Amino acid sequence: MIRINHHYLKLKASYLFSDIAKRVAAHQQRHPDPAVIRLGIGDVTRALPEACISAFHQAVDEMAADVSFRGYGPEQGYDFLREAIAENDFKSRGADIRAEEIFVSDGAKCDTGNIQEIFDAGTRIAIPDPVYPVYLDTNVMAGRTGSYRNGRYDGIVYLDGHAENGFIPGLPTEPVDLIYLCFPNNPTGATITADQLKEWVDYATANQAIILYDAAYEAFIRDDALPHSIYEIEGARQVAIEFRSFSKTAGFTGTRCAYTVVPTTLKAFSATGEAHSVHSLWSRRHSTKFNGVSYPVQRAAEAVYSDVGKRQVAELIDYYMANAHLIRQEMQALGYSCIGGENSPYIWVSTEKDSWAFFDMLLEKAGVVCTPGAGFGTCGEGHIRISAFNSHENVNLAMTRIRQALAS
Ligand SMILES: *Cc1c(COP(=O)(O)O)cnc(C)c1O
Repeated sequence: MIRINHHYLKLKASYLFSDIAKRVAAHQQRHPDPAVIRLGIGDVTRALPEACISAFHQAVDEMAADVSFRGYGPEQGYDFLREAIAENDFKSRGADIRAEEIFVSDGAKCDTGNIQEIFDAGTRIAIPDPVYPVYLDTNVMAGRTGSYRNGRYDGIVYLDGHAENGFIPGLPTEPVDLIYLCFPNNPTGATITADQLKEWVDYATANQAIILYDAAYEAFIRDDALPHSIYEIEGARQVAIEFRSFSKTAGFTGTRCAYTVVPTTLKAFSATGEAHSVHSLWSRRHSTKFNGVSYPVQRAAEAVYSDVGKRQVAELIDYYMANAHLIRQEMQALGYSCIGGENSPYIWVSTEKDSWAFFDMLLEKAGVVCTPGAGFGTCGEGHIRISAFNSHENVNLAMTRIRQALAS
């Protein structure tokens, strides 16, 4: 009899965004006007930069002629893109990363989800709370957890975020082998300083652990003192894998291009304590299960690094960050304490009460959709996430409505 992977039965059904959709639909039925403004889901809303579109078009034309047509490309990505990434995202910031250490993919969601399969089933995992749910669910699927009880899985070391630590979790108090970190953070918008990140690198070094560093929002960093990459920290080449994406940086959520950095100096161990290259393992996995990102998409991504592309991407990010600043300013003026919104497109607002109750109140009184913090983990309770991904007009209107609703 064919059996299922029974670990899937442990997964808590993710009702977050479908619950939100249901409540919004019901609200719209009752109040068709005015239209609700969505500051909930973390998806970009503006068009691809012109530089990317023109490179994209040109590459599609190349596919139309036999002389310039391309079939399967290298699984790890074309050299033109890997070299542009190494030069612009790492060498220019003093981080020693080479093109051969970059694996181009179709998304950081897949990469952060897939990476765990190259590590042992008994790996002890540390995951922040609140969190981007992919890290947790993929380890549940792989059988690294027990069952789900009171909002948490047995067998996971949770790293608690709360107001006292500014949603930057402290080091684990029990031994772990694999640590997930995400800065600037989704959902909280919290950022980490170089000194704080150095503590994690030192911890991983001392404990022969690996850090999985999700830097999908690095382009939103405004404070020059903050690290964009974990490889700006000394020692990180021996203990860290970094995930990046063009999704939020350049509006590629529907176009799909991202990359993972695995330094050739990173080691993990066999049961007998023998050191193995993680780069070789990931390379083997990537070329066995993945056949590369489409050529036109890689050309579009390469254009992000041209002079005009850099300018256009900066404008795109500035546009969303103007929204983020307005949201943060307005919520603080209303007396709510906030994290994020200064170096990230998310504002994490302390509501002091049940996050679903606050969500319902904002929807009912202001017609604005946010995301209840409880959907990101037990430590998310008492908070909501507001996203800056929308037009200036909508964000302005949303903040006016929120001001009127909360003041009354
Ligand atoms: C949006 C996001 C990503 C990027 O995912 P893609 O699959 O590249 O679109 C990665 N990590 C976090 C935390 C995100 O919010």
